Formats: sequence, C-alpha cells, structure tokens
Amino acid sequence: MATDHSTPTIGQPQLSELKIRLPLIGLTGGIGSGKTAVSDILAQLGAGVIDTDLIAHQITAPGGCAIYPIQGHFGADFIANNGALDRSKMRSLVFQNLEAKKALEAITHPLIKQETIKQANQLAQAGFPYLVFVVPLLIESGTWKGQIDHLVVVDCPEELQIERVMQRSNLSRIEVEGILKAQATRQERLAVADTVIENQGRLVDLQSAVEQLHQKILGIKKDKPSSS
Ligand code: ATP
Repeated sequence: MATDHSTPTIGQPQLSELKIRLPLIGLTGGIGSGKTAVSDILAQLGAGVIDTDLIAHQITAPGGCAIYPIQGHFGADFIANNGALDRSKMRSLVFQNLEAKKALEAITHPLIKQETIKQANQLAQAGFPYLVFVVPLLIESGTWKGQIDHLVVVDCPEELQIERVMQRSNLSRIEVEGILKAQATRQERLAVADTVIENQGRLVDLQSAVEQLHQKILGIKKDKPSSS
C-alpha cells in the first residue's frame, strides 16, 4: 500500500515564510556537473540540505507515496517486482511521449514539493543557519526563482559531464547526450546564476570554492533572526 505523505505539510510554513527567517539557496547544474559534490561539502560546513532528486527517488521507491498513483495511471507494468518504479521503462516512455512526461510530473511534482517543504521546516526548526535546495531542473521549472535568495550554479564543460555520468552509470554516450539536450544549456544557467562554482578541477579546489560560498551565504542578512 502507498504511504500517505500528504499530511505532514498541512499547517506548516511555506517556503515564502521560511524565506523571511533564513537564507534559502537554490543549487543547480547539469547532469554530472557536481551538484552532490558541492551540496555534500556545504552539509559538512553546516548547511541544511534538501535534495529534491533524492526525494524524487524516495517517493518512487517501494512503498513510496507516488507508486500507487503511478500504477493507477500507467499500469502495473511500470512497477518493478520489488514495488519500486521501473525507472528504465518509465525513462524510455517519457523520452518519446510528452503527454506521458506531463502525466508523470503531475503526479510526482506536488509530492516532491510537499516533502521538500516538510524537510525545509524540519531543518529550519533544527536551527540550521541556511537551507540549500538541490534542484537539478531549477532553471527549466521556472517556479523556483522567486522562492530563493541566491542561485548557485555548478558548472563544468559538457564533455566532462558526459565522462562523469558514463563512469558512474550504465548509460551510453548517446543516452547521456540525450539527457544533456533535454536540459537547459550551460549559457542559460550561467545567465541567471548569482554564484558560479567551477567544477572542472580537483576536488580539493572545489572544497575551497565551496568554503568561500559558505562564508558568502552566512553574510546574507535577514530581517528576523532564524531562531525566532
Ligand atoms: P546528477 O545530476 O547526475 O545527480 P551531480 O551534478 O549531482 O550529478 P555529482 O554526483 O556530484 O554530480 O558528480 C558526478 C560524478 O563526478 C560523481 O561520481 C562525482 O564523484 C564525480 N565528481 C564530481 N566532481 C568531481 C571533481 N571535481 N573531480 C573528480 N570527480 C568529480
């Protein structure tokens, strides 16, 4: 049976209310650019991190709250034997069928949003000085812009993105290139970034760039102290 994740956000402050209290940071970048690497460092430095990609995986894992509605719309064929979403089957479908893509998003996006708000409230309550929302398709979604104080874009050459993703997954070069084509371009992301983190060097260089970013974010002033 699907887990009901719909109630926890009822009565909880929305992101606009949290934004009054503490800095809300958007973190985006193309596939394999290094978003997780950057958010992991920020978390070590003391940031409250909400990874929307992780949430998307959790809600489509066995028992996840998106499984029941996905099965209802797309049929049991799209649910694997272990009860999780059959990702490769769904990926093949939505890549060639825009209507299916929209239907899947109509199910998953509100659930991801609910869980995002729930986690943001928990982290704010726990006293984290600022929150980082890792959103792979932040530029593409169009809905995030007004909700955050500062947009961080992780950037590296496309060839490096392709190499990293191929090394990490079973995807072929053609498949990774297909994913890249479906995402915003580097130029589109860089055009709206408040801070760009270059991630084409060593991890040690990334560490020092992210430490500087952390200090910069701590300097963002809010009207009300976060402890209020
Ligand atoms: P996705 O969009 O697929 O979730 P991502 O943007 O979160 O990817 P990461 O998972 O952080 O990217 O990085 C992709 C891969 O590249 C990982 O295996 C990571 O360890 C590696 N990587 C990231 N940055 C560097 C770096 N500066 N040097 C070496 N390897 C790196």
